[in-house]
Amino acid sequence: MRKTNFLSAIAAGTMVFAGSAAADNLGAMIDELNDSLEASGAGLAVGMVEWITEAESEEMGQTILFKDTGNKQLGFDFVPGDPRRGGRTNITYIMDAVDVTADATDEFAAIDNAMQTWEDAKCSDIPITDLGDVNADEGFVQWFFGFGGNSDINAPIVNGWDIAHDGFLPGNFFLAFGGSPNILGVAFTIIFPGTDIDNNGVGDAAYREIYYNDAFNWVDNPNDGPGDGLIDLESVALHEAGHGLSQGHFGNAAIINSNGRIRISPNAVMNAGYIFAEQDLQGNDRGGHCSNWANWPNN
Ligand SMILES: [Zn+2]
Repeated sequence: MRKTNFLSAIAAGTMVFAGSAAADNLGAMIDELNDSLEASGAGLAVGMVEWITEAESEEMGQTILFKDTGNKQLGFDFVPGDPRRGGRTNITYIMDAVDVTADATDEFAAIDNAMQTWEDAKCSDIPITDLGDVNADEGFVQWFFGFGGNSDINAPIVNGWDIAHDGFLPGNFFLAFGGSPNILGVAFTIIFPGTDIDNNGVGDAAYREIYYNDAFNWVDNPNDGPGDGLIDLESVALHEAGHGLSQGHFGNAAIINSNGRIRISPNAVMNAGYIFAEQDLQGNDRGGHCSNWANWPNN
């Protein structure tokens, strides 16, 4: 009973930052980041933070939107040919080759595979361009919270990076930004605040930063199941890359059996919690992807 109440209170919801207990700390930390960006005249802000949890922790992932950045939108996407991003119509990604993990995973292959899975999705034709592994410690959000990285928030724009897999960070990072120890991966959407230059009712993304929690034990195993303390990296990278491509969370958590095991339904890569490996897109993942990208670059 207690578990059920706990879960229903926090199940995979989208939270507009307004003061739930879970979001208060994160809201305060990101507000501080955004205040400093505004004071510096950077013309960029953190618009959204989305994370996936290890679902057996009984905590579900979250989506936190920051509305005090001048946006009224409930989401952000990339504008095709956005002159602020160099006028490109492809979507690019990089991997930080400094913040790597010692775990038994080939992280470069796992993340490349995940990106390829989205590129192969039918109904969209986005060219996803791999700009390779970067031998420098990248990541503005990690820098802001004192975990290495790059102090230049404009670096991804200057370099033409839309999705930056900024690597594996210690568990304390996921507390420092106001998150939780149960976070496996997190995507920060950096935005051009208050703008919607293509008038599609969605705010404009500048780029996304993705981080993985090195406190977990990462493996490459498409058959990874619940309860073993191992996490399949490609599955989580596929989820995070979905956020990189503007997709939100999907599905609801419930406890279904007497031992309290959690189930999330309908099953989707974009479920906000990880229970077992899922390296293939499910119906709802494809549906969400198609609605975001089917008309690219003409939307
Ligand atoms: Zn997520």
